[in-house]
Amino acid sequence: MSDHALDTDTLRAAADDLARHDVALVTLDSLRFDVAAEAAAPNLKALGPLRRATSYGSFTLPSHAAIFGGFLPDVTEEPQWDFYSRELRQLWRLSRARRQAVPRASMLLNGDNIVEGFGRAGYRTVGAGGVRWFSSGYFPGLFDTFRYWGPDGDDTDKFAERGFGDFALDHVEELVGEVAATERSFLFVNAAETHAPYTRGTDDPFDTETQRIARSWSGSWNGGAVVPFTTAARKDMARLREAQRVALESVDRKLGRLFDALTRPTVVVVCADHGEAFGEKGWWGHNQPMPEVMSVPMWIGVLHPSGCQTAVP
Ligand SMILES: [Zn+2]
Repeated sequence: MSDHALDTDTLRAAADDLARHDVALVTLDSLRFDVAAEAAAPNLKALGPLRRATSYGSFTLPSHAAIFGGFLPDVTEEPQWDFYSRELRQLWRLSRARRQAVPRASMLLNGDNIVEGFGRAGYRTVGAGGVRWFSSGYFPGLFDTFRYWGPDGDDTDKFAERGFGDFALDHVEELVGEVAATERSFLFVNAAETHAPYTRGTDDPFDTETQRIARSWSGSWNGGAVVPFTTAARKDMARLREAQRVALESVDRKLGRLFDALTRPTVVVVCADHGEAFGEKGWWGHNQPMPEVMSVPMWIGVLHPSGCQTAVP
């Protein structure tokens, strides 16, 4: 398949195969591609190759609007087309999207968004979130069941210290219980550990110095100012970058528990919703569409309860 061409029969077979699986989609909030590439993340590595993808949004709202609209971060680099191809551009697609002569997705879903689409296809839709966009409103309302573990209200400190065990992925048993009780499920989790201040999770003391740095930089970021990038600032950024890597490694351990707990063959997609700037051109954080923010990591695979993984066709 040197030219990556897939015939229509192959695409239909892939669609039939995927339609028999449960689906789990995890977004790692704010995770940079290069941080993902340098982290020790054995459970993600076992899921499938790390793909460099481009997000459709520079912050949580537009990125998830695109994802729920059927557009995962898009893979455009040819060497990584072991799953994606010129023909197969997405895992799923809404039937109301523009008609194409050759189907460009494995699963065709009917509805205003993929959550409704999975619901209409007989899947129970279960969601969980950890950043404010999931505390109430549009996104949680899409799901049959939605749980939110994150900061409350609109006026609390954005970087207020969380208690231990209050991230969505600290509740794997509860989430798996929800999906195992039904015949087929679509599980969505927004993991906030990798969002500033890059909380490590339950198995490590909270790093107050990282929190202090993230809070101090958040002021300049929220004001939209591009700050002078001094030596001290570079040191701060290096520390934040390291903290995000450590946060991802804690998430990988939690994902291992989630993957082990799944009871049926499941198509699993893990991706960042957007990246993060660490001082490039004087910027920190996300919102601004720059390469470090728009380039994101993505892993896709099929998990079987027996523990063996296979790549999606
Ligand atoms: Zn986000």
